[in-house]
Amino acid sequence: MADSSANSDYGPERLEAEVRALTREYPFVVAGSIGSSSLGRPIPYFRLGNGDYRWHFNGACHANEWITSVLLMRFARDYANSYARGGAFWGKSAKDLFARCTLWIVPMLNPDGVELVQRGLTADHPYYWDLLRWNRGSGQFRRWKANARGVDLNDQFPAHWEEERVRRAAEGPAPRDYSGERPLSEPEAAALAEFTERRDFHAVLALHTQGEEIYWNYRGGEPPESREWAARMARAAGYRAVYLEGSDAGYKDWFIDRFGRPGFTVEAGWGHNPLPPEAADELYDDIARLLAEALDCAPALD
Ligand SMILES: [Zn+2]
Repeated sequence: MADSSANSDYGPERLEAEVRALTREYPFVVAGSIGSSSLGRPIPYFRLGNGDYRWHFNGACHANEWITSVLLMRFARDYANSYARGGAFWGKSAKDLFARCTLWIVPMLNPDGVELVQRGLTADHPYYWDLLRWNRGSGQFRRWKANARGVDLNDQFPAHWEEERVRRAAEGPAPRDYSGERPLSEPEAAALAEFTERRDFHAVLALHTQGEEIYWNYRGGEPPESREWAARMARAAGYRAVYLEGSDAGYKDWFIDRFGRPGFTVEAGWGHNPLPPEAADELYDDIARLLAEALDCAPALD
């Protein structure tokens, strides 16, 4: 059954090792876990900076978009390194950004799904027969977006969830588009919502693939600066800022709806998901400029 899809080993274990290495190398980086996945894997986070403005970035909400974990880890290393050396960071001062912002990164929200995309379905998987059925008999999981329970984590948030469920019209667990039995039914989505409430972020950015677009609005709940910040990020990366309607229950939708603060979804790169691992090199500079610009949008708080 496994595995024609093992085109990379950037799975949950590799990610945990990379986070450990980052904190060892840069002691000012503080790491922890926001909770556990359906299969009991930790969902790591780490923190950079000391400022009063609280930014949050996350990646790999969708399993076959795991390249976003690679991009976020590279960004974090780059940022930490620039700060440690007192150097420039994509045309900005890392020291200034550290002083203005505290950034929490959750680089891989959906570790079980990422493992499935990368390794395929292994005989010892606890949901082996369910997953085979939900994947309509196929052992090919490269296009899987959901978590290990067949729920699309970006359709899980309590922002017009019922409408999204009707729109998606998925009747049960599936590779994508199934909203689950209720909002936040999945441990990954619930952990992220709780983490967001507890840290009380001023702004959030969810990294997905693909399309080179930035979504910044939600049903008129976004603050006035959202449009301007999206335009700045778009300019920095050569992406398009897009006004989007007809989509609900995503993480940034819920964040905007719940807090009335800037929330963004960024679709990195261009092509078919999963983007090949080597695309990370090609995508990185645009994404780094975009994320650095996002940080730089933060006002200085007293
Ligand atoms: Zn996505």
